[in-house]
Amino acid sequence: MADVEFIKSHLSSHPDFPKKGIVFLDIFPILRNPLAFETLITHFVHHITSHTLANAPTKKIDVVVGLDARGFLLGPIIALRLGAAFVPVRKHGKLPGECISASYEKEYGTDSFDIQADAIKPGQTVIIVDDLIATGGSAKAAGELVTKCGGKTLEYLFIIELLFLKGGAQLDAPVYSIVQSD
Ligand code: IMP
Repeated sequence: MADVEFIKSHLSSHPDFPKKGIVFLDIFPILRNPLAFETLITHFVHHITSHTLANAPTKKIDVVVGLDARGFLLGPIIALRLGAAFVPVRKHGKLPGECISASYEKEYGTDSFDIQADAIKPGQTVIIVDDLIATGGSAKAAGELVTKCGGKTLEYLFIIELLFLKGGAQLDAPVYSIVQSD
C-alpha cells in the first residue's frame, strides 16, 4: 500500500542507541512532516473503523489508551477522530489521585505503569496505542490495567512491530502494526 511505504520512508534507524547493540527506530521524522503525520493518523483511523469496529460487539470505541511517552503523541488525535476518550498510562508516580499499578519487565529490572482508577468505566471498550512493540511487556501491563478497571481491550495498535520478539503472543487482544521489522 502506498500509504504504508510513505509512512515507512519517514522512519529512521539509529544503531547503538540508547546503548551499544540496540538499533533504535525513530518515529519523530513522521511528526516533522504534516502530510506523513496525517497519513499515519488516517491509516490508523481507517483500520479501526473498517476492521476493529467491524468485529466489536458494540461497534464503538469508548477509550483510547496511550502509553508513556510516545503513545501520548498518537492517542489523543486518534481519540478525537473517533469521538472517544483519551486516557494516559504513565510511568509510576506521575498521575494524581487514586491510581492502579501494574509492573513489567525491562531489559534490566522491572518498571511500573499507573492508570487513574476512575479513568475507564466497567464495560467500556478500549484500544491501546504506542509507537512500537518490542517484547510486549509494557503493552501487557497496560492491558492488565484496562482489565483491572473493568474495561475490554479490543486491539493493540503500533506503528512498528519487532516481529522476532513475538511481543503480541503475550497480549489478550490482537495486535495491529503498520510496519513490521524482522
Ligand atoms: P516492550 O515493552 O519491550 O514491548 O518495549 C516497547 C516500549 O519500548 C515502547 O514504549 C517503545 O516506545 C519503547 N521502544 C523500544 N524500542 C524502541 C525503538 O527502537 N524505538 C522506539 N521505541 C522503542
